Amino acid sequence: MRKVVAIDGPAGSGKGTVAKILAKNCNLVYIDTGAMYRAIAYATLNNNIALDEKDKIVELAKKSKIDFIDGKTYLNGIDVSTEIRTMEVTKIVSQISSIVKLREILVGLQQKMAESHDVIMEGRDITTVVLPNANFKFYLDATEEERAKRRFKENQEKGIESTYEEVLENIQKRDYNDMHKEVGSLTRCEDAIYIDSTNLTIDEVVKKIQKIIEV
Ligand code: C5P
Repeated sequence: MRKVVAIDGPAGSGKGTVAKILAKNCNLVYIDTGAMYRAIAYATLNNNIALDEKDKIVELAKKSKIDFIDGKTYLNGIDVSTEIRTMEVTKIVSQISSIVKLREILVGLQQKMAESHDVIMEGRDITTVVLPNANFKFYLDATEEERAKRRFKENQEKGIESTYEEVLENIQKRDYNDMHKEVGSLTRCEDAIYIDSTNLTIDEVVKKIQKIIEV
C-alpha cells in the first residue's frame, strides 16, 4: 500500500525537522513545500520584481524549476538552500504565497511529486488542499514563544542574522497571514491528529508519529 503522510502547522512548529527524520526512518521522500514558496520569493527579489506585480511573479514561477536533491533545494539547477532561509526572504514569503495563481502552480507540482513515491510532505495546506486523501494527517503545533525560540536558535546555528524579537514578530505576522489566506490558508482539519510539541523533544514527536505511521 502506498504511504502518504501529510503534516501541517505554523512556522517553527517542528514540521521540517521531524519530517526529515521520519523520511529517513520510514524510507519516505521528504517534500518541504515551504521551500518551494521560499524559492519563488527568492527569485522575486533577485529579479527586482515588486510584491504587487503578481502577474510577473506567476510568470516567474511558471518558468522556474524547483528540485529537491539530497536534502538541498535547487532553483533552475542552482542550490539555493541557504539563500531561501534569509530574513529577507522570510519576511516576504507569506505575501508571495497568498497569490492564488502561484498556489495553483505549486500545488499542482506538489501533487505530482506525491503521485509516484511514498512521501512525507509538510506545509500549511497539505492535509486540506494538496493531499486531502493522505493515509496519515497531522497538525503540529507549539506556543508562539516556543516556536520563536526554536527559530532564533536555528538561525544562530546557521549563521542567519536575526534577533529574538524580530523572529517573534515575523512568526506572529506570518501566522496571521497564513491563517487568513483567500486560498490554502492554514487550518486544522478535523481528521488530522493534533500534536502540541511545546513541551516535547524532537525525538518524542518523531516517536509519536512513527508509531502511528508504521502500521
Ligand atoms: O514552512 P516554511 O516556514 O518554510 O514556509 C514559508 C512560508 O511559505 C509560510 O509562511 C507560508 O506563507 C508559505 N507556505 C504556504 N503553503 C505551504 C507551505 C508554505 O503558503 N504549503
